Amino acid sequence: MMKLQYYGSLAVLLLLPVALACADTDFDFFYHVQQWPGSYCDTKEGCCFPGNQKPAADFGIHGLWPNYAVCRTVDEDGRPLNQSKCWPDFCNASDPLDPSLIRDLEPDLLRNWGTLSCKSKESTAFWSHEWTRHGTCSGMDQHSYFLAALEYKARFNLTRILLDAGIVPSEERTYCLSRIRDAVAEATGSAPNLECNRNERNETQLYQVYQCVGVDGRSPVRCLVAMDGGCTGMVKFPAFCATETIQVMR
Ligand code: AMP
Repeated sequence: MMKLQYYGSLAVLLLLPVALACADTDFDFFYHVQQWPGSYCDTKEGCCFPGNQKPAADFGIHGLWPNYAVCRTVDEDGRPLNQSKCWPDFCNASDPLDPSLIRDLEPDLLRNWGTLSCKSKESTAFWSHEWTRHGTCSGMDQHSYFLAALEYKARFNLTRILLDAGIVPSEERTYCLSRIRDAVAEATGSAPNLECNRNERNETQLYQVYQCVGVDGRSPVRCLVAMDGGCTGMVKFPAFCATETIQVMR
């Protein structure tokens, strides 16, 4: 009996961290979304850099977004929603980003999660939006949320994965969309969803890569949701040139 009680308490103790980690994760998986700066900048709107410093030709993080496997049509109390909801957002208005909590991550964030927007040119504004809209629904605290996104990017280096598969940024070449998806699937074990935008010549180009990640924010999982990301069978993967940016900023 004593022994049973001991093992029972041990089981409770062992399960407690799992239960706590899952306590407020009312979603099914994360999208870890990264964007190609060449495609962000190579548009009518163009882009701007914080401190006018051009970042490296590397994918940048857009966000780590909690998502539902199936869009919801009723709220948590069973009441019908006006519009179906495919992800939770803005989960805690009383928890705005406190930059002092992520100070140690700032150099890493500036390198890997920098703003490209000409509206603010302030990376903190971008991080604050991502935290308020998505991070507050992640079940993580602010530091854990940004660290998880940075660690996942470092673990699966998309730029390197594509380069190793012969998918090189180029002004001239176009690539088979399935070749891009396959390269990421082979390297990570999970086929991503892809989103495209259009350049100034109205050509379709790879814009964002959505990798599916478990609710722990660490492990790749199979993407359960198909996405129409506006891509075509053949897409551009443009070189990251700063010239169009300089025009925007004058
Ligand atoms: P979300 O609400 O998470 O879907 O993010 C969309 C918002 O993020 C829009 O306001 C975009 O302008 C902004 N955004 C997307 N990429 C960037 C970027 N690289 N730098 C700054 N803002 C961005």
